[in-house]
Amino acid sequence: MYKDTNCGEPRDTSVGSVITVAGWVHRRRDHGNLIFIDLRDRSGLLQVVFNPEYGEKAHDLAQSLRSEWVVQVTGKVVSRLEGAENPDLPTGAVELSATELVVLNQSITPPFEINSDEIEVDANTRLKYRFMDLRRPRMQEVLKLRHKVTHIMWDYLTDQGFTQVETPILIKSTPEGARDYVVPSRVHPGDFYALPQSPQQLKQLLMVSGVERYFQIARCFRDEDLRADRQPEHTQLDFEMSFVHQDDVMKVVEELYTRIVKETLPEAEVSGPFTRLTYAESMERFGTDKPDMRFGMELTTITETAATSDARVFQAVASSGGSIRGFVAPGCGNYGRRQTDDLTEFAKSSGAQGLVFIALDESAASIDALEDDHIKSPLKKFLSLDVIKKMAIEMGAAPGDLMLIVAGTDKLVNTVLSNLRNEMAKRLDMVDPKQIAFAWVYDFPLFDWDEELQKYEPAHHVFSSPKAEHMEYLDTDPGKVIGTLWDLVCNGSEMGSGSIRIHDKDLQTKLFNIIGYTEDQISDRFGQLLTAFTYGAPPHGGMGLGLDRLVAILAGEEAIREVIAFPKTQSAFDPLFEAPSRIEDQQLEDLHIRVVMPKS
Ligand code: ASP
Repeated sequence: MYKDTNCGEPRDTSVGSVITVAGWVHRRRDHGNLIFIDLRDRSGLLQVVFNPEYGEKAHDLAQSLRSEWVVQVTGKVVSRLEGAENPDLPTGAVELSATELVVLNQSITPPFEINSDEIEVDANTRLKYRFMDLRRPRMQEVLKLRHKVTHIMWDYLTDQGFTQVETPILIKSTPEGARDYVVPSRVHPGDFYALPQSPQQLKQLLMVSGVERYFQIARCFRDEDLRADRQPEHTQLDFEMSFVHQDDVMKVVEELYTRIVKETLPEAEVSGPFTRLTYAESMERFGTDKPDMRFGMELTTITETAATSDARVFQAVASSGGSIRGFVAPGCGNYGRRQTDDLTEFAKSSGAQGLVFIALDESAASIDALEDDHIKSPLKKFLSLDVIKKMAIEMGAAPGDLMLIVAGTDKLVNTVLSNLRNEMAKRLDMVDPKQIAFAWVYDFPLFDWDEELQKYEPAHHVFSSPKAEHMEYLDTDPGKVIGTLWDLVCNGSEMGSGSIRIHDKDLQTKLFNIIGYTEDQISDRFGQLLTAFTYGAPPHGGMGLGLDRLVAILAGEEAIREVIAFPKTQSAFDPLFEAPSRIEDQQLEDLHIRVVMPKS
């Protein structure tokens, strides 16, 4: 071994011992006679001091050291001088008085500072030099956190009788809503494998195989247009259980995720059981199926009341079947023009035509006592005092509050208000960074109506089972069918989804028919699953839960690329390997592929 001690280990109690450490030069300060370096390895930092009195050759050599050189140092652990201790460092009470120094390797000047976590470097440069970026202590911490999370998953699920099974990466296209990544076959000219969007069919097949409890930390590939913070490949905790109901599956996740939060973020607050909301309730109260439960400001529908005013927008929306909804921003009744203009812009960027606000002056004694000059609103001329009071009571506003209202189609109103609600919470600093608020959203509709294609699409995927009491609507009104499917949400992000699956061939076929698959498509893509269902398939259900998002939340990071060792950019490009890339003509020939470039 090049070292007998890790940099982060020495303490007061080590004073006097002679040790050898090895690592990277994190920082160097040359005081002429004394040269200090902070030496870094995976365990932390240790201050090393080169004093010619104790090692003349080592001191001379230390003059040439630069950031990120790799060195081995032998010396004696000594106490730091009084006043020179560093309470922020675990090794801050001591330093290594060097007697020997070996330079194991040099480094050219790093592309950015490794010794600061506050780096202002563009994302591309960080990814191009990811091997350097990952050296930063912060990134090392994140890698360890990610490892710890998966370790807890392995432990917990093993205790619960789950078996980890690896499923193939080269499979057949198993559409789950996204576009597949495909891999050409050399030995079967003209044929392609697809990379799994998730191991969905495979884990269901494992249930037919009698595994009963399967899990895998699985890589999933989706060739989607990358919206903010998506990656072409992401990692999922994928699991499936036989002989279970919805509650049984949820219980596994509640116990596991509570344990993960407790063990990785001891100071966080996570209380079980997780909040449960039906999809309908979530849309009604928060305008979204990904509600952030860390703050209030719930939405209220005021369509009827608003429509009794003289405001044409309100009348028009109400009579065309749309809705008028809003929420109250507490204590914002004193917002000036700039602030309300700003919020209007924000609402417009989410698709709203406009934002109606009604500011209530705090000097009013109560809502009942509101007078004309207590109210500021661009629609004031069209809203009688009575209507405003009624709206304020329905929305739960008090003097000093700001009512934010949007009118339009249900879908638009919900999108705008849910975005605005999150934005207001940020502006009002309502989010406690220590809080981790999980919620289950369940009872989703089984199908969404696709306006463009004029057909039903599965809301989640086509393997989820309809609720028993809704079977009859499959023939008459599929849009009404609620599925036994659910999402886990945390702090306003979707963490994963799951369902009780269909395990009956006829029912599964019926669903394929409803979403318009032809007989050929059914047998081509799903033949194996349907066949398996005819050999005694047990009732089963499970979930796929995003690992990247979970670790990002635990790490306090916004973007999942911060917690993926080698992520890709927004345009699905890997700046480190410069992938994707051209391949050799010979490779194309072997694969029987001719490339036709798009005309630009
Ligand atoms: N396969 C699903 C997905 O990736 C999750 C599940 O239903 O288990 O979204």
